[in-house]
Formats: sequence, structure tokens, C-alpha cells
Amino acid sequence: MKKDQFIVPEGMIYLDGNSLGPLPSAAAGRISSMVEDEWGELLIKGWNQAGWMQQPIQLGDRIGKLVGAPSGTVVIGDTLSIKVYQALAAALAMRPDRKVILSDTGNFPTDLYMADGLIKSMDAGHQVQLVEPENVADAIDDKVAVLMLTQVDYKTGRKHDMMALTQKAQEAGAVVIWDLAHSAGAFEVELEQSGCEFAVGCTYKYLNAGPGAPAFIYVRRDLSETIEPALSGWLGHDAPFAFERPYRPGSGIERMRVGTPSVIQMAALEAALDVFDDVSMADIRTRSVALCELFISEVETKCPQLKLASPRQPDIRGSQVSFRYADGYPLLQALIERGVVGDFRSPDIIRFGFAPLYIDEDDVRRAVEILKDILESGEWDQPRFHKRAKVT
Ligand SMILES: *Cc1c(COP(=O)(O)O)cnc(C)c1O
Repeated sequence: MKKDQFIVPEGMIYLDGNSLGPLPSAAAGRISSMVEDEWGELLIKGWNQAGWMQQPIQLGDRIGKLVGAPSGTVVIGDTLSIKVYQALAAALAMRPDRKVILSDTGNFPTDLYMADGLIKSMDAGHQVQLVEPENVADAIDDKVAVLMLTQVDYKTGRKHDMMALTQKAQEAGAVVIWDLAHSAGAFEVELEQSGCEFAVGCTYKYLNAGPGAPAFIYVRRDLSETIEPALSGWLGHDAPFAFERPYRPGSGIERMRVGTPSVIQMAALEAALDVFDDVSMADIRTRSVALCELFISEVETKCPQLKLASPRQPDIRGSQVSFRYADGYPLLQALIERGVVGDFRSPDIIRFGFAPLYIDEDDVRRAVEILKDILESGEWDQPRFHKRAKVT
């Protein structure tokens, strides 16, 4: 759809945009003009004259458009782990009489680690209850303070029904947090319509804003004037430059800001979001489903050694497809050497993300041909492919 707006090395088929999106062609120019014309020329005046201070809100609004959130309900900053902590702390404070955080075993570890750390420091008897993804609905009861889920499972690509689970949890009196790490930029999300209280996500996966790009947080509009930010940094203060002693949260979503925004990285995010300006998330989703369906049918025909680990029905699958293979790690290293980039998740999952902005049917077919070749030749079983790198 937008292949010419990304830089992917010649010969590479990049199926890992679910981990780190590729470089938008306009990003390098945008970053260098930020650095040279704004930082270099304006120095500290950039905060006012180049509008750096307002950018977290403006970029939040642009992300909001992609995830069904109205203007003024999303702000960017920090990392996703931090945003999970902020949302969870605020959510728990809304239900002081309840002690259970309900999540599922498919959630990404950092979300659960952050929950562990938060409840340890709160020391108020909270517990994280984990159930299998398909049992979440049944586990919702009136002890649950917060239902915290990642919509798309990072290993299998299984996608939760956001509307139904939000409604069920809220009927039981729980507060709902959705992590949209593998949703934002991948398919349509109707945040406001879902009625959930909080959502968080990152911008370096399907939104392509680069390694270390800021995360985002959504707070339902009716709550943003009352929630108490647990990370009460000065840029979430009502008057940061009054330098007054007592902390007073800023108005609305501004209170979810913490400290100084990463301005250079925001230039990359801006360029990355421009790519989405004239495509609809509905079209992206339609194309993504077509690519995933093609990949599954090609792999199942040509590489029967691999077992599908993702749901077969597209409506309960995100924009990635995973297969199981006992020697998944060396297989994937061999694939990468041949230019097909996916990733491996322990113990035996190989994952492939399909971002139709820069992947097409030809890429899918070629990727499967290479996969078939590597499996048939046994090329993957060389000692160098078995060595584990730090990032897999
Ligand atoms: C990718 C991902 C993260 C990453 O968190 P960072 O703080 O950005 O490193 C967190 N949660 C989920 C569900 C993810 O998929």
C-alpha cells in the first residue's frame, strides 16, 4: 500500500514489524531537521518556538484517531511499561475495596512484572490472578478490581473481544485496562466505543516510530479530571513552571505526563504517523487478513512440518501468524540469513508480522518458498544457527 514510504534493505522481506517497525523514508530528514534547525538553532527556545512542549498532546491526538479515541484523551511519553504502571495504579485507586487484578497467561511479561512491582510497593493485599486466555470471561467476578489485558497475544496472535470483555468486567464492577501494543496501527480499535477506562500502547511496533519511541496512554474522558497520577512528575503538574511545592495534577490527560519528552524521537513518530494520514485502518485490516490467510495456506501446503499456533479464524487473530517448530530458533536464524526476518519466542514459536503498508502477496509467497527450501535442505541445522543472541 505504501512500500515506497519505507526503507527496507534490498532483498529483505521484513515480517517483524510487530516487534520493531521499519524506517519510514521521511523519518531521517525529519529527525535531522529537528536536530539541526530546532535543537541546533533554537536551543532552549525550541520548547516554545518549535512547540516541543505541546507535541505529546498533539501526537496523542493523532494516535487517538487510529484507535478510536477522541481528541484530548491520549498523550504520549515514557515507555509502555511505565504507562502500564500508571494506568494500573490509577485503576486500583478507583476500587479501593477490591484486591484482584485479573489478567491472562498470554499477557506480555512486562505488564505482569509492573503489576507485581506496583502491588508490592502498595503493600495492601492485592494479587495478580492469571487465567488461560479463553477463561477470562468466566473468571470475572465481584472481587476483580481491574481487568488488565493485552488485546493481541504476543506469542500466538490470538485477539480478545474488547467490547464483550469490557462490558462483562464493567457489569461486575471492575475497571478495564487494554494494552494495545499489537493493535495500534495494525487494525481498527474502537476505544471510546468500548467504554474501557484506560488503554496503553507503544509506537515502535505497527506504528513504525523507531526503537525507543514513546508509548501512549488513553484515559476515558469522564475520568481524566479525577484520577490521581501515581507517577506525579512535574510535567503532569497543573503549572510546571510555577515550581510550587504541592503537587496539583494538570487538567485532563495532561496529568498522565511525567517528565521531559523525547523530542528527537517525537520527530520520528511524526514522520511515521504521516504515513497513516491517507489510508484507513479498515483497509489496512482487510489487506492484513488477506496476507495472513495467504501465508497460512502457503505454509500449510509447503511446510507441513510446522504447526499453526495462531487462531485459524481471522476475526480472533491480530496481524501476526505464529507456527510451532521444535527447532524454531535455528530455523529462524537460517531464515534471517536468507533475508526473511521474523522472530522467535521461547520455547518453540516462530512469529511473522504482516504489515500491509510495506508487505505484499509477492513477499509472502517468496518468504514461504525460502522457508520451504531451508526446511527441505536441512540448512537450518548448522551449528552457527543454534547460538542464542541476547535479543531473539
Ligand atoms: C512490546 C510490548 C511491551 C514493551 O514495553 P516497553 O516498556 O516499551 O519495553 C509491553 N507490553 C506489551 C503487551 C508489549 O507487546
